[in-house]
Amino acid sequence: MEKCSKCGNPKIIIKRKQSGQALCKDCFIESIQKKAIKTIKKEKLLDKGDKVLVALSGGKDSVATLDILNTFRERNIIDICAVTVDEGIDNYRQAGVDIAIAHAKRLGIEHEVVSFKDSFNITLDEIMKRENHKGSCTYCGVFRRWIINRAARDMNASKIATGHNLDDESQAILMNYLEGNINNLTKLGAKTVSKSDKFTVKIKPLREIPEREIGLYVVAKELEVHFDSCPYSQMSFRGEVGNILNELSLNHPNIMYSTLKGFDKLKPLIKEELSPSFNFSNCKICGEPSSNELCRACTFLDELDTHVNL
Ligand code: SF4
Ligand SMILES: [Zn+2]
Ligand SMILES: [Zn+2]
Repeated sequence: MEKCSKCGNPKIIIKRKQSGQALCKDCFIESIQKKAIKTIKKEKLLDKGDKVLVALSGGKDSVATLDILNTFRERNIIDICAVTVDEGIDNYRQAGVDIAIAHAKRLGIEHEVVSFKDSFNITLDEIMKRENHKGSCTYCGVFRRWIINRAARDMNASKIATGHNLDDESQAILMNYLEGNINNLTKLGAKTVSKSDKFTVKIKPLREIPEREIGLYVVAKELEVHFDSCPYSQMSFRGEVGNILNELSLNHPNIMYSTLKGFDKLKPLIKEELSPSFNFSNCKICGEPSSNELCRACTFLDELDTHVNL
């Protein structure tokens, strides 16, 4: 019978296809925490005294991010707060919001729930009923970033942590290559520092951890999470690219990791060549930093015949 490669415990919960390593529950939990901490140290994601805003959806990735960052909070290295964005997706979002509230309460951290409806007078479901919409994820990403950036400033956060995992990152890299959005590649990575100081530094501590291992981590640690996927996710190009990568991973278990590592080597070169040199000014409607007269959120809202509630 196969035993844990670390401690010999016969009760294994994972056998990693990539390395052949088998792990018991405790050694698996430790391995995930160590991997995230390695990324945090290698990429210098945290500084002592940081106040980190966790973008907490209640899904497995954000709950695992909160759980791992909380070990730094317990050692008084950082402080943590959280924001949950309610996009207004019927029969989906509320369950995640409730779980996010429960985790924030359990840990006693400052937490805000901010909705698209309150911020922009429209829900994502309402947007999707409009003719000629640009696709759910296009609006969702732009509006969510707008809310999270603003929350970070309101809560005086020095960093924003998101739960992007290895699958998300490799999908984003491949998507941008396939669509020819090479400029967007300059914005990917473990740590994103914007030229505008109105944008808070963004960090991704789980970026090297496969999605299924994060799922197993929250189950092993008995953390309550919202496991359903967004009803719009399969309609997206990202969903299609994700399916291709998953299929390739069956015979090439390292494909996502090698995509990420290859990109990390290229990134400094791409950045040097392509990093846009525009200067930020402020959006003339909402005041957020923007390279155009209107930021992307206000441009979309204008097309949808609504506006930001300031
Ligand atoms: S799948 Fe798209 S619409 Fe759904 S939450 Fe993610 S970004 Fe938003
Ligand atoms: Zn073990
Ligand atoms: Zn704006």
